[in-house]
Amino acid sequence: MIRTRFAPSPTGFLHVGGIRTALFAYLVAKQANGQFVLRFEDTDKKREVPGSAEHLIASLKSLGIDYDEGPDKPGDYGPYIQSERLDTYKQWAQRLIDSGRAYADPYTAEEIQAFRDQSQAAKRAFLFREYRPENPPEWDGSQPLRFKAEPKSYCYHDEIFGDVTTNAEVVDDFILYKSDGYPTYNFAHIVDDAEMHISHVIRGQEFISSMPNYLALYEALGLELPVFAHMPHILNEQGNKKLGKRDGAKDVLDYIRDGYLPETMVSFIATLGWNDGTEQEIFTKDELVQKFSLGRVQKSGARFDEMRLLWMNGHFIRELSPDELYNRAEFFWPEAAKKAEESYKKRVLALAQDRLKTLKDLPGLTSYFFEEPAENRELITSNKQLSKLSVGEVGGLLQGAHDALSGSEWTAKAIQDTLNSLLETTGQKPGILFSLIRIATTWAPFSPQLNDTLALLGKEKTLARIASALHN
Ligand code: GLU
Repeated sequence: MIRTRFAPSPTGFLHVGGIRTALFAYLVAKQANGQFVLRFEDTDKKREVPGSAEHLIASLKSLGIDYDEGPDKPGDYGPYIQSERLDTYKQWAQRLIDSGRAYADPYTAEEIQAFRDQSQAAKRAFLFREYRPENPPEWDGSQPLRFKAEPKSYCYHDEIFGDVTTNAEVVDDFILYKSDGYPTYNFAHIVDDAEMHISHVIRGQEFISSMPNYLALYEALGLELPVFAHMPHILNEQGNKKLGKRDGAKDVLDYIRDGYLPETMVSFIATLGWNDGTEQEIFTKDELVQKFSLGRVQKSGARFDEMRLLWMNGHFIRELSPDELYNRAEFFWPEAAKKAEESYKKRVLALAQDRLKTLKDLPGLTSYFFEEPAENRELITSNKQLSKLSVGEVGGLLQGAHDALSGSEWTAKAIQDTLNSLLETTGQKPGILFSLIRIATTWAPFSPQLNDTLALLGKEKTLARIASALHN
C-alpha cells in the first residue's frame, strides 16, 4: 500500500518548493490508489507562526491537493499534529533507553561550547559522541535525550539522487528529545512515518545531510526503510541561487489572489524539474496523476521562470469554457462592472479571454465597457507611430472615423468593413488609424479586437467618445 505524506512545520507561508513537495507526494499516492497524509510538525515551538497551520491547509485546498488523512481529517493513525502525539514519542524513546541506545545529556550549554572549542582547536569536526558522558544520569525529561550512535557507513537508494553511500564518521549522538519536553524533528518524523505506515518519504534535499543519522536510528529501532526521494532546490530565474522571496516566489495564495488559476499553478509547479520525457509542457492534474514519476525528477535545481508561469496561465485561461471563465472572474471585475448584467459581462469576457494573462488583467482590459474612461492623452503622445501625427492630423482622422462610423450598421462585420474603407480613403496604416480609434474609444493601453470592441460598446457610446476626444 502506497502512503505518502506532506509534513510541513507551521512556521510560515507555503512557498513554491513546499507546494511542489506536497504535489509530488500527492501524485505518487494518487496514481497508486494510495493515501496522501498531511501531518503538522510543530515540535519547535519557538519557530511556530500563528495562523500558518490554517494557511497551509488553505494553500493545499486552493490547488486541490486533497489529503486523505490530516489534522482536520481523521484517519486510522491520528492525531496528525505532532504536539498531540507526545505519549507516542515517549514510548519510543523509552524503547531506545531500554535497549541502551539513548541517554540523558547532563551537560550545560557552556560545557558543550567548551567541547566545541576543544574540537575546533584540534581542527576536528565537533562530534558529541567523543564527549559522551561515562555515567549519564537517569533521564527525567529535564535534560535532552540523545541517541547513542554507532558510527557506521550506510547505503541507501534515493529515487532522485540514486544510490548513496554515507560516511561512517558523520553519525553522531544527536538529540532525540529537547529539555523543553518536545521531541526533535529528527526523532519524531521517523516515529510518525513508522506509526502512520508511510511508504515514501518525499521531502526537500536539505535533509540529505542528516540521512546518516536517520539511517542509524531506523536501524536501532528495527524499522524497515521507506522509499526516499529528496527534492532538488528550486532556483531563481538565472539559475544561480536558491529561489527566495525576492525572486518573485510568492506564497501560493498570493498567486491565486493575483489571478493565476489553480490549474496553472499545479502544471507549472509539477514541471519545475520534472517532465514526462516528451516535449509536453502543460499538464492537467489528471494527466499528472497518470504520468508523474519520481524517477524523472531532475537532480539539478529547477529554474523558476515567471514569464513561463504567465504564459501558462494565459493558456489555461483560454481553455476555460465561457461559464467557467465567468465563475472564475467573479472577484476580479472592475468596480463599475458590479451593476452590469451577467449576459453583458459574459460578452465582455468572450472578447477579453484571449488577451487575459491573469484574471487580474480584467479591469485594465475591460473597465471602459462599464464606465466612461478618463482620457489619457499620453497613450497617444507616448505611442511611437501616433506621436508623429500633428494635432490637426489626429483631429482629421478622428473626424473621418466619426463620420464613417455614424453611417455604419452596427455589427462587428459591418464595422470592420467601414474601418477597412476608411483605411483606403485616408491612406493610413491600421497601426495608426485603428490604434487611434481604439485609444479614443477605450483610453486603455490594451483592448480586444477593435471591431468587436466597438460592436459591444454600442454605436452611441462609440460616437460620443470619439466626439469627446475631438473636442478636448
Ligand atoms: N517538517 C519538515 C519541514 O517542514 C518536513 C520534512 C519532512 O517532510 O520530513 O521541513
